Amino acid sequence: MSLVNENKLSAMLVSKEENVRYLSGFSGDSATLIITPEKKILVTDGRYTEQAGAEAKDFEIIEQTEGLWRKTAETILSLKIKKIGFEGKHLTYAVHAALKKLLPKVELVHISLENFREVKDEEEISLIQKACDIADFAFEEVLKFIRPGLKEFEVAAFLENAMRNKGSEKAAFDTIVASGVRGSLPHGISTEKLIISGEFVTMDFGATYKGYASDITRTVAVGKATEEMRNVYGAVLKAQESVLPKIKTGVSGVELDAFARKVLGEYEKYFAHSLGHGVGLEIHEEPRLSKKSKCLSLKKNMIVTDEPGVYIEGKFGVRIEDTVLVTDNGGVRLTKSDKKLVEL
Ligand code: ZN
Ligand code: ZN
Repeated sequence: MSLVNENKLSAMLVSKEENVRYLSGFSGDSATLIITPEKKILVTDGRYTEQAGAEAKDFEIIEQTEGLWRKTAETILSLKIKKIGFEGKHLTYAVHAALKKLLPKVELVHISLENFREVKDEEEISLIQKACDIADFAFEEVLKFIRPGLKEFEVAAFLENAMRNKGSEKAAFDTIVASGVRGSLPHGISTEKLIISGEFVTMDFGATYKGYASDITRTVAVGKATEEMRNVYGAVLKAQESVLPKIKTGVSGVELDAFARKVLGEYEKYFAHSLGHGVGLEIHEEPRLSKKSKCLSLKKNMIVTDEPGVYIEGKFGVRIEDTVLVTDNGGVRLTKSDKKLVEL
């Protein structure tokens, strides 16, 4: 494991669920990995030992009955490890305190594995593509379902059900359905509000396939859109599409975010969040496309979202989002649903 060597550590302790899965293949929770240059160990409990044995083939599986962290600490001691990297961002204060007590002579060094999963391999890309296809299918179906008089949560339930029927393990995140004035809440989860003719409905949803997420947003008009609604929709769509060819190797997250803001022009002041984020085993992961992005240069086979939005308080909101693969020649959309303004 190169991170072990890079940090001059004798071992690495991995506990964040997605990182455990990425490094070992184990898809359950309640597990830790202890990785040294010679050994790979996975500690879990009796509910998971069979599954771990089947999924994490390169790992020695240790079953604990006395508590995950107690057994993890015991294993670290038995390996005579002097210095171990741990994911400080993902451990609670209580666990860190317990580890220090159980391992008084072991040096605990904070490490970050967040950038490890940024660039996807072919298999990961195909799993994310599948999750995107499922979300695209649900969007096509929901267009036949939405009508005035439905509650927002009925639309959310329809989307989630359509994705489940198509093979999604679970919604990738809480489905957002925000209609009319609620559309100005970028993360308004669905409520009992009735959808009325003449409103925009923003739906932000995603599927999970073999652990990998997809993320898509579409905004549709139920009934006729006003001229103002059309103008805002056109501006957001223009920004979203103008960014796509620029999502390529070598461009920074800050540049892309700034470019989208420039294209939005007079509406930029209503763009209340950042342009996008990485998508993978987590719905929001590195790299970020934002004013504060640490990503100085996108790499081929990263997967990010392109999601500008305009939110006008008291009126409505529009967001359009695709999951996009970074290539040397520009972004390739993995979510392919049409983006022309739909009036249902
Ligand atoms: Zn989204
Ligand atoms: Zn997103």
